[in-house]
Amino acid sequence: MSAAPPQAAGVREVLTEDLLRKFDTPGPRYTSYPTADRFAENFGPADAVRVLEARKGSSAPLSLYVHIPFCESLCYYCGCNKIITKHHERAGEYLDALEAELALVVDSLGAGRAVSQLHFGGGSPTFLSDAELTRAMTVLGTAFQLTPDSEISIEVDPRTVTPDRLAHLRTLGFNRLSFGVQDFDADVQQAMHRVQSFEMVKSLMQSARALGYDSINADLIYGLPKQTPESFAQTVEQIGELRPDRIALYAYAHLPERFKPQRRIAEADLPSAAQRIAMLGDAIAGFLARDYCYIGMDHFALPNDSLAVAQREGRLQRNFQGYSTQPDCDLVALGVSAIGRIGACYYQNAKTLPEYYESLARRQLPVVRGYASTADDELRRDVIMALMCQGRVDFAAVERAHGVSFAEAFAPELEALRDMAASGLVGLERAALQVTASGWFLVRAIAMVFDRHLRESQAQRRFSRVI
Ligand code: SF4
Repeated sequence: MSAAPPQAAGVREVLTEDLLRKFDTPGPRYTSYPTADRFAENFGPADAVRVLEARKGSSAPLSLYVHIPFCESLCYYCGCNKIITKHHERAGEYLDALEAELALVVDSLGAGRAVSQLHFGGGSPTFLSDAELTRAMTVLGTAFQLTPDSEISIEVDPRTVTPDRLAHLRTLGFNRLSFGVQDFDADVQQAMHRVQSFEMVKSLMQSARALGYDSINADLIYGLPKQTPESFAQTVEQIGELRPDRIALYAYAHLPERFKPQRRIAEADLPSAAQRIAMLGDAIAGFLARDYCYIGMDHFALPNDSLAVAQREGRLQRNFQGYSTQPDCDLVALGVSAIGRIGACYYQNAKTLPEYYESLARRQLPVVRGYASTADDELRRDVIMALMCQGRVDFAAVERAHGVSFAEAFAPELEALRDMAASGLVGLERAALQVTASGWFLVRAIAMVFDRHLRESQAQRRFSRVI
């Protein structure tokens, strides 16, 4: 039974507006399970030290995430943890703190651990100067051993790089770039306060190719102010012309009460629900027509990209950076607000710079919250990741790995899936749960059925309202 998402099938035939309206509800992207809102303050620095020390001496390669929080200018749609500043001298103090954090991590974990995946995210990592990026890579290279085939990636704000900067990043060992594009339309760019021309992005991507980067990703967002199905179709067309190896297509979630910058977006400028659905459907159809493979939630890749290959071979994984080809491994996170995962434990660093600096000044890991997964969490994590990555849950495999009866452990979930099965999103087979062609586009909603924490918090909210 093939578990691959639809590639050649006409998306319009499988993804109807009725289905989108019924099941395309906001929900977690499941880059972790449980999701970060479950992390609690009863997990602190001492717990982080304990889980890191338990890994001392392990030869398994690590994944490393480095968070650079600074951005020069505010994008109004932004929901990230970032600091807007033009004071580049702030980066020096931040790098001092990162080095201090790194030293504490190495104390617990041991020096010279192999790293097979390193990602710089933000904020805007390219806020750092060439010299600062060199400094960061030098200290990381001293503390860890980057494997020869490691994936070293960085998020690139096109407004902060030139071909020379891309060349410098290449000499530092970066082999993957992710460009924040979002939309090419001039009116949309004005409305989201992020102006960067198509020509600028095109010339940077051409430089990146000439420099031999292994993979180039472009992030797009639909649902932005001033966007229309027609204007977004033009952006899709232009992205098709640039032909990045990977495309991430995110939905804009307008939550101004939660994300202050979004208050600068006029609600009247936002596309309607029908327009959003049209944009999503058209974009998916447009990418599939241009030979991109649908990888799973939000992601597309050219057929020879490692992500598409891993998907075909059933090796796809999911972590905080989205889909990954790397085997499920420990993720060490450095920097303000960064989230790591060691074994069955998640941890998150302080969200503000004063807290982050203060903890490091006391020579203490800046971990402020975390979560130690239970056996039930691990069971559900496996099911959710199998859905998100393979589109299929083999009951016997889950039973073997966790020593449970799938039918008994998930009786309420299997019952809850009947509506989705009737709508054609999943096939409930005797030995497996199979995501269908249309179900692939709504896989987040299917995964949500298995999220015990979400269900309990929804029940709690309903209970609170009743009383
Ligand atoms: S969207 Fe990215 S570049 Fe823009 S403000 Fe947020 S973190 Fe910075």
